[in-house]
Amino acid sequence: MTKSRRLFLCTLGTGAVAISLGTLTRQGIALAADIPKVDLNDPTAKALEYVHESPDAAKLCVGCQLYTGTADADWGPCAIFPGKVVNAKGWCKSWIAKAG
Ligand code: SF4
Repeated sequence: MTKSRRLFLCTLGTGAVAISLGTLTRQGIALAADIPKVDLNDPTAKALEYVHESPDAAKLCVGCQLYTGTADADWGPCAIFPGKVVNAKGWCKSWIAKAG
């Protein structure tokens, strides 16, 4: 295989991956918007004293190890509340600092 052909195939593969990731990201954002927000009256939310707005700016859901939303989203999934999203600025008693 020639060097230029290898370069062309490599560029083609990189482009395909970039398009796929872009599509997945857009789908992820759309899906997050469709997922219901955690209800403050949810028994788990009550037990963990979850709030949509953290009383401590240093301890936000977005900085929690259990938060899997994107850093720039207002709401995102949390391992404690499957099928729901929490506010990125929220907090609960299970907060644990994100590693790294
Ligand atoms: S465990 Fe609590 S603090 Fe952490 S993301 Fe979930 S709701 Fe937020």
